[in-house]
Amino acid sequence: MKPGDSIMEISRILNKLEKVLDTNRFKHSVNVMEIAESLAKHYGVDDDKARLAGILHDCGKNYKGDEAREYVRGIGYQADEIEILQPKLLHGIIGEDLARNIYGITDEEVLSAIRWHTTGKAGMNLLEKIIYIADYIEPLRAFEGIENMRKIAFEDLDRCIVYCAESTINFILKKGVLLHKNTVETRNYSLMLIKNRK
Ligand code: FE
Ligand code: FE
Repeated sequence: MKPGDSIMEISRILNKLEKVLDTNRFKHSVNVMEIAESLAKHYGVDDDKARLAGILHDCGKNYKGDEAREYVRGIGYQADEIEILQPKLLHGIIGEDLARNIYGITDEEVLSAIRWHTTGKAGMNLLEKIIYIADYIEPLRAFEGIENMRKIAFEDLDRCIVYCAESTINFILKKGVLLHKNTVETRNYSLMLIKNRK
């Protein structure tokens, strides 16, 4: 990719996304793109990839309920029981497919970061971690402890992921909805990474 190419690619995607996402979702996506870019620069990750994954991470968000279930069935994805009961969890899988086939993304790292941004998973690579965190700490997010999380994001990605996953788990418990095992694995894996450092 030449330097000018990524700017053209981003503006092409921005134009398209602005038409399909609602205003808040679009603003959120732009914010995630910007934070992901800063984190990528900070941690020495390809910032073009971070921008692409950031802007597109929620491109599958318009598919809800049965539409989401049918979409993933159509692409041969075997949703698990919790994903079927909570089809919001499928928007990363749908997003990956749309990014590949509608937005012309071919980079597997970008696609994977979109795929895993909702729950995270055990053993994420740097770009996946950055998108997972950027989604959590972007400026439109407001909850207790967010300022501390924004600070930790630039100090220690794994520690920040533990906080993000725990905050998600707390939220899910309060709401009384189903908790996906990938969220638990994201938290445990990152915590183990930290403990093994010592
Ligand atoms: Fe999302
Ligand atoms: Fe998001």
